[in-house]
Amino acid sequence: MPHELDIINPATEETVATVPVTSPEEVDAAVRRAAAAQEKWAALAPADRARLLRRFADTVDAHLDSLAHLELLEAGHPLANATWEAGNVRDLLHYAAGGAERLTGSQIPVAGGLDVTFREPLGVVAVIAPWNFPMPIAAWGAAPALAAGNAVLLKPAETTPLTALRLARHALDAGLPEGLFQVLPGEGKVTGAALVDHPGVAKVVFTGSTATGRHIAARCAAQTKRLTLELGGKSPNIVFADADLEAAAAAAPGSFLDNTGQDCCARSRILVQRSVHDRFMELLEPAVQAFTAGDPADPDTRMGPLISAAQRDRVRSYVPEGAPVAIRGEAPEGKGFWYPATVLEGRPGDRAAVEEIFGPVAVVLPFDDEADAVRLANATDYGLSGSLWTRDIGRALRVSRAVAAGNLSVNSHASVRYQTPFGGFKQSGIGRELGPEALTAFTETKNVFINAEESS
Ligand code: NAD
Repeated sequence: MPHELDIINPATEETVATVPVTSPEEVDAAVRRAAAAQEKWAALAPADRARLLRRFADTVDAHLDSLAHLELLEAGHPLANATWEAGNVRDLLHYAAGGAERLTGSQIPVAGGLDVTFREPLGVVAVIAPWNFPMPIAAWGAAPALAAGNAVLLKPAETTPLTALRLARHALDAGLPEGLFQVLPGEGKVTGAALVDHPGVAKVVFTGSTATGRHIAARCAAQTKRLTLELGGKSPNIVFADADLEAAAAAAPGSFLDNTGQDCCARSRILVQRSVHDRFMELLEPAVQAFTAGDPADPDTRMGPLISAAQRDRVRSYVPEGAPVAIRGEAPEGKGFWYPATVLEGRPGDRAAVEEIFGPVAVVLPFDDEADAVRLANATDYGLSGSLWTRDIGRALRVSRAVAAGNLSVNSHASVRYQTPFGGFKQSGIGRELGPEALTAFTETKNVFINAEESS
C-alpha cells in the first residue's frame, strides 16, 4: 500500500500535492471519533444543526474562488464549471440546513392511545466519491446526511482528494464538531473497503462505476447495511424531426462534452430521426468545433483534459483505427491527458453505442418513428437520464413517460437541481440523491405506540 497519493494536474501532468493515505487502522479510529461526534450532533436542537450548516455554507461561499481553483488543479475542470460546482456545494448546504428543521415524523391516534413515527439518524455514514465531480458529489452525500443528524466519513477518489480535504477544513472553521465530517483519502480497495466493511458504518453512499457499485452492494448486503448507489449511464439525446433543430444542435455538444464527457448523465447516444439526420449533422459539426478544448484557466475554454492517462487509454479504445468518425474536434498536443471531441456514426450493438465511455465521444444513431426512438433509447442496461427535443407537447409527455430513466429533460439537457430527486433506473443505481427524498434516505423510521388506557 502506498503511503501517499500523488495528485497530478491532468492539464499539465505536474504533481500539485501529495496526500497521505488512510490505513484501515486509521479508518477504525475515524469511525470511533465520528460515532462520538454524532451522538452530540444528534442531540442538538435541529435549529442549531441548521445554523451550523448555514455557517458551513457561508464559509464555502467565502472561499468559492479558491475551491474552484483547487478543482481546476486536481480535476482539470474549466474555471467557470469549477466555480459552478463550488456554488452547488454552497446551495446544497443551505438547502440541507433548511431540511434539518423540516424533518418531521408523524402521529396518528389509534385504539388505546397514540402512535408516533420518528425519523432517527442512522449514525455514521460513509460517502465514497468519484473523481468526475469530486466536490459536488461529495456534498450531495454529506449535506443531507449531516442535516439528518449523522456523522460523515468521506472517501474521495484517489486522484481528487484536495477539494474534499478543503471542505472538511471549512466545516471545522464553521463550527461543526471535530470528528463529525472527516475526509479519509486513500485507495478504494484499501481505505474504501475498510469503510464499507466497518460494522460501525450504518450506510454507504457510493457514486462511481457500475462494477465497483455491484461489489460494494454485495459487501453491504453481508451486513444488511443501508446503501445508495449512483452508477453509470448511456443516456440518449432524442432529436425528433419536428424539433427546433438549430437549438437541438447548438445544445448537443454540451450534453456530451461538458466535463470532457466524464459525466454519468452524458448524452452520449444521439438518436436523430432519419428524415432530419443529414441536416442535424450539418448543424452539429460547427457546434462541436466551437467547443474549445484547452487551458482550464482560460475563460474561453469549454473543455479540459481527461482525468488521467489511464482514462485516455480507455476512451481511445472506443475509437479504434477505421472507426466511423463523423465529426472530430481539436485538442491540445503535448503534456496533459487531452482527447478531442468525437462523434461516431453508430451502429446499434457497437461497443461505443452500448458501454459508458466517460470521455468526449458520442454516437449518432438514426431512428424512424416515435416507437423506434423509445425502443432504441431503452436498449441499454442503464437508465440514468436523457433528453428529447420536439415541439409536440403530447409527444414530449408520451416519450418521457416511456423512456426508462430517472431524469429526463425536454428541449433541454439539465439533469441536476439540488431541489429535485436525482438517480437511476436499472443498472444506473439504487435510491435517489438531492431533493427532499435525500434527507429521509439518511434516517431510520421508528414507530412508538403510547398506551393511554387508564390503568385499573
Ligand atoms: P470506481 O467506481 O472504481 O471508483 C469510484 C470510487 O470508489 C473511488 O473513490 C474509489 O477509490 C472507490 N472504490 C473503488 N473500489 C472500491 C472498493 N472495493 N471498496 C470501496 N471503494 C472503492 O471508478 P474508477 O476506477 O475511478 O473509474 C472507472 C470507470 O468508472 C470510469 O472510466 C467510468 O466509466 C466509471 N465512473 C463512473 C462514474 C459515475 O458517476 N457514473 C464516476 C466515476 C467513474
